[in-house]
Amino acid sequence: MKFSVVTIFPDMIRNFIGFGLIKRAIENDLIDVNVYDLRDYSRDKHKKVDDRPFGGGAGMVMMAQPLFDAVEEIKKKSNARVILLSAYGKILNQKKVKELSNDEHLILVCGRYEGVDQRFIDSVVDEEISIGEYVLMGGEVAAEVLIESVSRMIEGVVGNKESIEKEIYYEKRNYSFPQYTQPREFRGMKVPDVLLSGNHKEIEEWRYKNRKKGGNNE
Ligand code: SAM
Repeated sequence: MKFSVVTIFPDMIRNFIGFGLIKRAIENDLIDVNVYDLRDYSRDKHKKVDDRPFGGGAGMVMMAQPLFDAVEEIKKKSNARVILLSAYGKILNQKKVKELSNDEHLILVCGRYEGVDQRFIDSVVDEEISIGEYVLMGGEVAAEVLIESVSRMIEGVVGNKESIEKEIYYEKRNYSFPQYTQPREFRGMKVPDVLLSGNHKEIEEWRYKNRKKGGNNE
């Protein structure tokens, strides 16, 4: 699976893909992440990609031209779904993550400033996605969240398939539960005896009884 990220801060994404399982997934050709510096598509001699909003108002708006040019160039290679990371998009959840993992190529556009020229959104963007009901400074961190969550769904990226299937958000009937590792006692707190018993049926029952509830804070 391939991700193409359009951003004014390419190093944020390059840094992110240099660690852990994402790095390994790239090395193993399970995923591919290409980073596009939006300023390379600016036709302005100062590489400007933003301007003042028509009608006035605070902050700057990302100009349509560099965004159109960047995405059109990427799309010449494959007709990928174009996602704009946006505070007003559909909230990313595990169902959506799974759906996106079936695509071969996603183009992720990271907004900055006060927002993005609506003409780009209307003509080029297929979908706006938010990672939560709060406002970030830019779309890069949101793109990273999307890449990481979608990549985990790709066969071979995360070693233990069973651990993914047991995660709370994978399917409604599954659940997460308290986990412990060595040592058996830490600062007077002991690992529950049942987990040391080797009795798998009792362990499953204990885990179900002590399952964690997910969801929002309300
Ligand atoms: N005034 C803008 C507004 O009300 O949407 C805020 C724009 S924000 C400072 C700059 C960029 O950050 C947005 O264009 C979007 O790409 C990204 N962003 C902010 N919050 C986000 C969220 N919750 N999920 C995904 N992207 C977000």
